[in-house]
Amino acid sequence: MKKIEHIGIAVNDLEASNNLFEKLLGRPHYKIEEVASEGVRTSFFKNGPNKIELLEATNPDSPIAKFLEKKGQGIHHVAFAVDDIVGEIKRLKGEGFTILNETPKKGADNKLVAFLHPKTTNGVLVELCQEAPLPKGEGA
Ligand code: ZN
Repeated sequence: MKKIEHIGIAVNDLEASNNLFEKLLGRPHYKIEEVASEGVRTSFFKNGPNKIELLEATNPDSPIAKFLEKKGQGIHHVAFAVDDIVGEIKRLKGEGFTILNETPKKGADNKLVAFLHPKTTNGVLVELCQEAPLPKGEGA
């Protein structure tokens, strides 16, 4: 695992939280992206080598809606950058961690992502994220 790629924060109201974090970090967010399959709308801030991801639920069945209901606003997950998400999933499974999705899925911000169950990580929802490969023939 490499650096902390981002910290995910569950919020009730994305617009209000964008304003708050713009004041806090002294810079605007650089993108808003909806991940319909997860029932979330996300907003990203760059902060040095790391990012902050704000997450708002878009429907009552969204995992974010359930989190907010149970715990209220706050830190939702910590995401680590990895080079080889499939290899890391295999390694972590071998170490006894429970992987929520053993097949990486497409997350926000052009990433392939997988999550570790917080029951096996001292209560911290851990996200692995790998830069999604570019379609063949594009870029390096
Ligand atoms: Zn995330």
